[in-house]
Amino acid sequence: MLKTNWIWHHGDWVRFEDAKIHVLTHALHYGTGVFEGIRAYQTPQGPALFRVAEHYQRLLDSARIYMMPHTYTVPQLVSLTQALLKKNDVGSMLQQHGMESVYIRPLLYVGYGTMGLNPGKNPVELMIAAWGWGSYLGDEGVKSGIRCKMSSWARIDSRTLPPLAKCTANYANSILAKQEALSNGFDEAILLNVNGMVAEGPGENIFMIQNGELTTPPPSDGALKGITADTAIWIAQSMGLKVSYRSIIRDELFLADELFFTGTAAEITPIREIDGRVIGSGTAGPITQSIQSRYFELVRGASNERSDWLTVS
Ligand code: PMP
Repeated sequence: MLKTNWIWHHGDWVRFEDAKIHVLTHALHYGTGVFEGIRAYQTPQGPALFRVAEHYQRLLDSARIYMMPHTYTVPQLVSLTQALLKKNDVGSMLQQHGMESVYIRPLLYVGYGTMGLNPGKNPVELMIAAWGWGSYLGDEGVKSGIRCKMSSWARIDSRTLPPLAKCTANYANSILAKQEALSNGFDEAILLNVNGMVAEGPGENIFMIQNGELTTPPPSDGALKGITADTAIWIAQSMGLKVSYRSIIRDELFLADELFFTGTAAEITPIREIDGRVIGSGTAGPITQSIQSRYFELVRGASNERSDWLTVS
């Protein structure tokens, strides 16, 4: 993690070291925060945010699910984020450190006021921070694939917590799964939902390739509506591949020709093993590799397609 100098916090620019909150902040106690994870990659036009409007729409959707009062709009949030990249001169920062992208973390949360479960009239505050971040699952993982564990934790269910919201509370579930996978010597977890259908990774959507066709679990099975997943679907379809959303059982994953995760942090990461079972050829599959390289072309502005997905700062 390569820190930047300035963070947008509660209506002001504050130095990284000074971006602080009160210990009685509501969100710290009760998980009343919604957030996003966005990347900006170096492109020939400078650092460019990838599908930033879609990310902020999802942030506002998460806030809507949790009935958080605020007045932010997508264009406002996009321009604040452009300003954040400028203020931190992330283009020079990335160049100087030989890095490719910054990760941007907006968080809208219930602040300090009264205690108790009801967020009531506590202020809703916004912070947006950025930092230099490499591959979430490691460069080697992105290249040759990672080893996953089927989690003993089920993905949250919409009868307990809304899986379509990126709410901080939801991530207690993801953390349990991640910790379990790591402490058992794996790189990442795969969670089933409470009905036993494949849902996703702790912070990634999952895709299965069988006979040249892509399948991914639908949101109704607990998968977050991933923006990288949507991008992978667009790429696959533009390559003439069939893509469908349908429920997947665990055994199908074991028999897949190829599997991969998608996520803003995880980018496109192949899965080469689950619980000791080798997936396909045991390395990144050819279709995964093609989708991955097209993805990197898109985010780096190296493609003449979908320039509408890039927002320069
Ligand atoms: N699932 C979960 C639970 C996530 O946290 C994320 C990361 N936002 C994803 C999937 C992937 O979503 P995206 O591609 O939009 O980053």
